[in-house]
Amino acid sequence: ATQPYDDGNVFARILRGELPCKKVYEDDFALAFHDINPQAPVHILVIPKGPYVSWDDFSTKAGDVELAGFIRAVGHVAREAGLVEPGYRLLANIGGHGHQEVPHLHVHIFGGRQFREMIP
Ligand code: 5GP
Repeated sequence: ATQPYDDGNVFARILRGELPCKKVYEDDFALAFHDINPQAPVHILVIPKGPYVSWDDFSTKAGDVELAGFIRAVGHVAREAGLVEPGYRLLANIGGHGHQEVPHLHVHIFGGRQFREMIP
């Protein structure tokens, strides 16, 4: 079972403007910003604006417009970052075994080098 959404998590605070971020893109459904501790030459996080703990929470509770909006935003950010032609990697960590550290859904976009290994 997913834990209840914690309004005090760091990405909720970024969404409310209480903490700064290096913004890459924003629309009605998503906010994208640079990861504070980049693991690749390009490392962007894309988060939905709604209060979803994880991919599991989002994919069960979000409406179709929200789901589509978020997925399109992830693609848009990668495209605008020039990652489509060279290629890139998407990753979402879910829960304990996924080693998810921030309990607000985030999709990692990794680019700028080739990822031969399974985990960046
Ligand atoms: P997770 O392990 O939960 O999938 O990834 C959390 C990610 O969020 C990590 O890559 C970490 O560097 C990033 N992160 C944690 N706190 C902050 C923050 O305050 N600002 C930004 N921009 N990234 C953060």
